[in-house]
Amino acid sequence: MAGGGRMGGRYLTEEEKANAPKVTWPLIKRILSNITPYWKQFSVVLVCIVISSVLGLLPSVLTGKIIDEGLIGQNMKLLVILICASLGVTLLSNLIQVGESYLNSWIAQHMTFDMRNKMYKHLQKMPQSFFTSNNQGDIITRMTSDISGVERVVTSTFTSILSNTITLVAAVVIMFRENWILALVGAAVIPLFTIPTRWAGKTRWELTQESQECNDQINGILNETLSVSGQLLVKLFGQEQKEYDRYEGANRRMIKLNIKESMAGKWFMVIVKTFSSIGPMLLYLVGGILIMKHDSSLSVGDITVLVTLLGRMYGPVNSLLNIQVEWIRSMALFTRIFEYLDMPVTIKNDPDAITPEKAVGEVRFDHVGFAYEPERQILKDVDFTLKAGTSIAIVGPSGSGKSTIINLIPRLYDVCDGSVSFDGVDVRKLDLEFLRDSVGIVSQETYLFNGTIRENLLYAKPDATEEELFAACEKANILEFIQRQEKGLDTPVGNRGLKLSGGEKQRISIARVLLKNPALFIFDEATASLDSISESKIQEAIDPIIHSRTSILIAHRLSTILAADEILVIKDGVIAERGVHSDLVKLGGIYTELYETQFGRALDVEA
Ligand code: ATP
Repeated sequence: MAGGGRMGGRYLTEEEKANAPKVTWPLIKRILSNITPYWKQFSVVLVCIVISSVLGLLPSVLTGKIIDEGLIGQNMKLLVILICASLGVTLLSNLIQVGESYLNSWIAQHMTFDMRNKMYKHLQKMPQSFFTSNNQGDIITRMTSDISGVERVVTSTFTSILSNTITLVAAVVIMFRENWILALVGAAVIPLFTIPTRWAGKTRWELTQESQECNDQINGILNETLSVSGQLLVKLFGQEQKEYDRYEGANRRMIKLNIKESMAGKWFMVIVKTFSSIGPMLLYLVGGILIMKHDSSLSVGDITVLVTLLGRMYGPVNSLLNIQVEWIRSMALFTRIFEYLDMPVTIKNDPDAITPEKAVGEVRFDHVGFAYEPERQILKDVDFTLKAGTSIAIVGPSGSGKSTIINLIPRLYDVCDGSVSFDGVDVRKLDLEFLRDSVGIVSQETYLFNGTIRENLLYAKPDATEEELFAACEKANILEFIQRQEKGLDTPVGNRGLKLSGGEKQRISIARVLLKNPALFIFDEATASLDSISESKIQEAIDPIIHSRTSILIAHRLSTILAADEILVIKDGVIAERGVHSDLVKLGGIYTELYETQFGRALDVEA
């Protein structure tokens, strides 16, 4: 019966009402533009919907003829033909609906396929700040459920609007053609059942929402007070009676709501059943009056057609009355997706970007200022040059801005003041792919994909030969470990590399960067303490790199610092001291302090 089982979720929550998007013509045009590539299939769907909706009504019309000409006219042959025609039309209409469903889901799947790919590509171009400032869950929700929602809009919302409108219009036209007086009576009774249905549905929905809240409250009380620590607190403070009263209150509210809810269901059915039978009865009554008192040419068959058509209108009317809800939800869905797609790509290739033949890895920071958020300056007037073939160690207290400095080189972020140049060219003027290819970073947080060691290494150089892989692993001091594994390079690393130790992960990521063979090598030393054997293995791996490559090292251990040609001491985002170890240690400043507290301890461990 009309809308009986479709009450849940059929009304907008206060939050949905407050966030209802503004529907503008450009928004509609943009939504339609996603369907344009499939306009041919879409046209077929439209034709199928029109045909199947109209065919769906034909059996109702044929019923009139079956009664008047077949049964009352006692024409057996015609009766059989009409019955067969009616069955045939129903079958055809349903078959067309199957074809239409297939095409519809084909279009929806292809549309969402396009949207997902477009969104993924766009997200890949987003600056790093996007990923640090947005909740990962939100990003994934937009990629998955929001886009899947679009599929529902195409396969269900859209089809339902169209087929219900056509069914309704066709039914009204046929009814008026049969008899305009009865058609008007039919139209007049529609609000009689739609209004109470909606009213009862809304009341039930509100009660369900309320009882859900009450249920949450009860669960909250149980979780709080029946947990080990919760019970301890209740007992120690003698709050048993108070907690019981709180629980009993919520429990009482719950039973009241449940009774109300089940009664609302019963009233609802009484109302719906009564009102839905008022329509046909009125038609029989008025039809009878017309035939008996006004000598109308109306036949029993005609009245039956009108009654059947009226019955066919309940469903579409109810659906269309709920369309506003579906419509607002669908628009909100598209708006959320477009919001992401419209986020500007702030770090992108300059149209006149330069791609040099070869990189040497020289870096120049020219009075660089940087802030992640406008109100909090992180780097101030950072100015230094890293000559090709040399190395710089950056040291400083935690949070002073060391990682931020290196993030600016491959343009994970762009500077706010001054400039960063790579091989004499402002990084913003360099081809982004060239720049990122020329810089290799081993970061503090080593990230390995869930796969084998080999797969992780090949990420840097997909066409690397077996020899190259072994050579890189040897240089990174991880070959021996790999050879000890039963599966060698094909050993799985586990989710995010969790099957490996911190030191092993770091050495694999050094090997990965070595395979990439960048002009500039950046090593962000892990602050988390590794055991001394792991540390010395990493040291052995990076020492030759520091001496032979242009490199920047964020260092926490003396041995790494000593290997660099120059040391920059960063404090609160500025270069506070710079020079070589022997000079800095005598200054009696931040470096001396770091040396005595942090590096000194490391030295003890190494010794
Ligand atoms: P550590 O030695 O602990 O790694 P660090 O010297 O490398 O520290 P940075 O990571 O450069 O420090 O951070 C410098 C400051 O910038 C910190 O105060 C940090 O809170 C802030 N910061 C870092 N990343 C972001 C970000 N994505 N958004 C906002 N602030 C950030």
